Amino acid sequence: MKRMTIFLCAALAVLIVMPCAVALCVELAAEKDNGGNSVLMLSSDRLGTYGRLLVDYGQASDIVGSNVSLQQGTVDWYHKYLEENGGAEDDNDKENSGASVKNIEVKVYFHKEDIVRKVDLEEYLAGVVLGEMMISFEEEALKAQAIAARSYTLYMMEQGEGASHKDGAVICTDHTHCQTWKDPAELYNAYPDEQAEKYYEKLMRVIDDTKGKILMYEGKVVQAYYFDNSGGFTESYDSVWGGENLDYTQSIPCMGEADKDNFCTLDYFSAEEFLERFKKANENVDATAETVFSTIKILSRTESNRIDEMSVGGVVFKGTAMRSILGLKSTNVIFRELDDGRILTVTFGYGHGVGMSQWGAQAMAERGSTAEEILKYYYKGVEIVNLYEL
Ligand SMILES: [Zn+2]
Repeated sequence: MKRMTIFLCAALAVLIVMPCAVALCVELAAEKDNGGNSVLMLSSDRLGTYGRLLVDYGQASDIVGSNVSLQQGTVDWYHKYLEENGGAEDDNDKENSGASVKNIEVKVYFHKEDIVRKVDLEEYLAGVVLGEMMISFEEEALKAQAIAARSYTLYMMEQGEGASHKDGAVICTDHTHCQTWKDPAELYNAYPDEQAEKYYEKLMRVIDDTKGKILMYEGKVVQAYYFDNSGGFTESYDSVWGGENLDYTQSIPCMGEADKDNFCTLDYFSAEEFLERFKKANENVDATAETVFSTIKILSRTESNRIDEMSVGGVVFKGTAMRSILGLKSTNVIFRELDDGRILTVTFGYGHGVGMSQWGAQAMAERGSTAEEILKYYYKGVEIVNLYEL
């Protein structure tokens, strides 16, 4: 009898609690309407009332805009690089193949091993693609990732030996700092041999098919930021990092992310812990566990609904600071107080939101978009060029 009661309670909990949590997320989800068009439900926080925005991938090229003519910035840098590294291209070879120029080497800081190594750019990128996306993703999404990561790496190389990396490395393998990296050989530890072989070949195909391809905007290589899941809308560069915006980063809707990982995350904090975290960040936070929820004020949100500034206990925090104080997946957060006094955070998306959504790229690829279409959707107005043919 007792066992039956427990079973019924558990079943009721699943039936009642789960759909509530799911509904909360799905209410703000992307869906298809009766006509089969992709429809994005906008949250009430963004529009005041629920609104609908029709987005048809077929029109993405119209949204992206006009061609941009190449200028000399990155071209000059690349030729200088070849000169300095003794890799001036052999004209005879070049006539036979555009990819016959000397490959570029990147000085990478491998943060786990704490060493700096010079790695061939394309070999390095295989590890980045494997680390940054699941190898089971659609090949076109993986290709988009390879091109974005190659662009970002080139951008970092152009910046030179930053003080932020040791021993003259230009990029590191820490995903919270630059971009993550996983040794392709690890596929053989993670999967049975036959599957590992297939995935390894898939990875090499992705790198080969995109070899040398980078994103350019007004003659410069694009700072091709990317992230896990936008939670509905991407973010512009200036909203996250200040300064002047990068034209190709704008707040645009992402389709098909709602049923993917990290679209919507619920976290629970006791009022005491919530208060303690903010007090640790700033001792001037003036509140008690009983009052702290009532002191939360959202002062401003960005165009994409992420929190720009908020205050807790009378102290103003940037949304980005709040995110790290609470350890949340993004700054697009709604706060709720529960009957038992705990504070619930509902977080949309995962990552800074600037540039390409990786789950959004996967969703587009599942619906038949090519890598080029994906990239031109997320980075507005860019061109794709081959570095080795510049
Ligand atoms: Zn780094």
